Amino acid sequence: MVNDPVRLPCHLIISQGFRILYSYYMDTSPHSVHASQPQAEAPVGADGAVPVSRLSQQLLRTDISGMPLEWIDYREAVRLYHTGQVAYTCGSALYRLFGGTNARTGLQTQVDVNSIIATVGHTHSPGARRGAYLPPLNNETLFKRDGYLCMYCGARFPSHLLSRDHIKPFSRGGQDTWANVITACRRCNNAKASRTPEEAGMHLRAVPFIPTFAEYIYLKGRRVLTDQMEYLLAHFPRSSPLHARLHSWAH
Ligand SMILES: [Zn+2]
Repeated sequence: MVNDPVRLPCHLIISQGFRILYSYYMDTSPHSVHASQPQAEAPVGADGAVPVSRLSQQLLRTDISGMPLEWIDYREAVRLYHTGQVAYTCGSALYRLFGGTNARTGLQTQVDVNSIIATVGHTHSPGARRGAYLPPLNNETLFKRDGYLCMYCGARFPSHLLSRDHIKPFSRGGQDTWANVITACRRCNNAKASRTPEEAGMHLRAVPFIPTFAEYIYLKGRRVLTDQMEYLLAHFPRSSPLHARLHSWAH
């Protein structure tokens, strides 16, 4: 499966010899807030204007070839920089973290943390081909796969009003797998009961599918940024139903 090339700007950085010795603080315009602890998620700021939401933003980690691997938080990002494992970065600069003084240069260390971080080393990627990887099934990612839409009535619901429907009923040998489950509102699920959609006279609005690894990373993401989204989209198979779904959900 050939994927679209990634068109995002990538920046080579020099991470060799990088040292973070002491604590970190964030420099965010227009406010600059200093924290005395490395765990700067809830620093005591002078004016309380700490954009914690930015620190809690997940970063997308890839291998050196650019294959998406996982979501990481800023602590893990700092660790990767600190241990010289960051090969290059992509996407947008999210924030700047400051460290202590470099013992060799006498300069204060700093890290510009980007939304996408490529780390050294190749991984045996689980692959972009459908069927090459079987992600674990859970309601959170299932509902997101289906856009929080009931696949029978087509209405959108919050998660707590949705359920996992087995197209071929579980009680009749249907498997609890991505290919046999679909998001359904409780009303439709109850109406369908232990019947197939055909038996119940109900029609599926979309075909279930098993996410590829890249698709699954997207589904697991919280507050996925636009550049992270574009990056992941470029790694979806061309045939990914998510291309059309994301397009239609956005309009
Ligand atoms: Zn419904």
